[in-house]
Amino acid sequence: MDISIVIPLLNEAESLQELHDWIAKVMQSNRYLYEIIFIDDGSTDTSWQVIEKLSQKNNSVKGIRFQRNFGKSQALDAGFAMAKGAVVITMDADLQDNPEEIPELYDLIIKDNFDLISGWKKKRYDNVITKNIPSKLFNAAARKTSGLKLHDFNCGLKAYKNQVIKAVKVSGEMHRYIPVLAKNEGYTKIGEKVVQHQARKYGETKFGMDRFVNGFLDLITISFLSKFGKRPMHFFGLWGTFMFLFGTFSALYIGILKLYKVYNGIKTILVTDNPWFYIALTSMILGTLLFLAGFIGELIIKTKNSEKHYSIKEKLNL
Ligand code: UDP
Ligand code: MG
Repeated sequence: MDISIVIPLLNEAESLQELHDWIAKVMQSNRYLYEIIFIDDGSTDTSWQVIEKLSQKNNSVKGIRFQRNFGKSQALDAGFAMAKGAVVITMDADLQDNPEEIPELYDLIIKDNFDLISGWKKKRYDNVITKNIPSKLFNAAARKTSGLKLHDFNCGLKAYKNQVIKAVKVSGEMHRYIPVLAKNEGYTKIGEKVVQHQARKYGETKFGMDRFVNGFLDLITISFLSKFGKRPMHFFGLWGTFMFLFGTFSALYIGILKLYKVYNGIKTILVTDNPWFYIALTSMILGTLLFLAGFIGELIIKTKNSEKHYSIKEKLNL
């Protein structure tokens, strides 16, 4: 199979037929062997009924229905697990992404051998205040932290080599950082393509301003995880040991100084009146705690097996 198109959706019933027809047209005129995997992320409208209908008429249409709303990342992850195409393309269901971009994205992966191509909505049709400006700041921070020079991390339209999507695990709200996850797995030929963007035709955005707060927190998590996620002892153990030694030596110094002064009959204050005493004490305690955190982290990594993080209600054609 040439292409899997993975489409996560939440309450997008009005768009689905039109989106499907448009994709099918592009696929047929380019003679691709394809599948469209719709992941209904707990819609409460008639989205799933529409998908069922589409799948009856076109057996390239496949569906996954979540038991409840688990989030876009989980939906993408479920779609990725099923995708069989050599190239996997993700797009939003709201008709903001243009299916006509697919052939060029496909060629960039197959002919130019990119691992991943991220869409860049250079000209956006979203609200300037709530989306465009925060998104510029957000992308700048993401570039700085991840070292990936992408302009538009959040773009729903992206193309991947199949092995790339099988290698990444998209959880939490990490769908914004799949390129970073891919890079961490060693897929570094990552490119960007300017893509057409439309205003939302039906319904409204499912992500409010809180996306930027969550986005920044995720960014910190991801940069930390990529460095120390598999070896917490190297972070916590190092700083724990350092603090503990600092505390111990400070305490020793205070103790020896005290003994020396008492022995030589020099006038001296109580050890507990010396501010250094408290600094030394705190350092020793914090050092031990940090070390323990690292140790427990290592234990968790050793014992944990990859847990499932969504529940599927129904499947179509899969
Ligand atoms: N979406 C989803 N689960 C969610 C929220 C959103 O599957 O919990 C889907 C949504 O239906 C759409 C895509 O993710 O297909 C992008 O969402 P939206 O268009 O609301 O985001 P925006 O374009 O405003 O960034
Ligand atoms: Mg949208």
